[in-house]
Amino acid sequence: MSKLSGGCLCGNIRYKILKEPLLAYTCHCRFCQKDTGTAHRSALATLNEYVNLSGNELKVYTYKSEEHGRQLYKNFCPDCGTTISLKTERFPERQVIMLGTLDDPSQVQLSTHMFAEEAFHWVEFPKDHIVYARHRINEDGTPASPIN
Ligand SMILES: [Zn+2]
Ligand SMILES: [Zn+2]
Repeated sequence: MSKLSGGCLCGNIRYKILKEPLLAYTCHCRFCQKDTGTAHRSALATLNEYVNLSGNELKVYTYKSEEHGRQLYKNFCPDCGTTISLKTERFPERQVIMLGTLDDPSQVQLSTHMFAEEAFHWVEFPKDHIVYARHRINEDGTPASPIN
């Protein structure tokens, strides 16, 4: 049983995560840079069934990646614009929740980085973290080998 909860800036959207996350990671890809408007996105991955939303309905923006042709769905508060979660065409049973929207982000341990090859040049990775050049799962479904 997880005690993780969070919400958007204005408080009109709240959520609880009912089970411990599968993974927490930081993604340095260009999509995450553009979408967050900053250097990277930190998020936790969980199954859809473990996310309990309350309050207003999330608004969805659908983005089609030019790189792999699949769709990404960004879910945000229509009132304050905070991105709460992302869903993907590739992993429809999962979603990722933005770590910064948690009430207490210190409850989640993070040691995985993806898309290091697109990271801002000043980003330094902690020595004991696991770093992937691109996604941790290859296009053919096999696990990628970390570069650190
Ligand atoms: Zn809001
Ligand atoms: Zn990304």
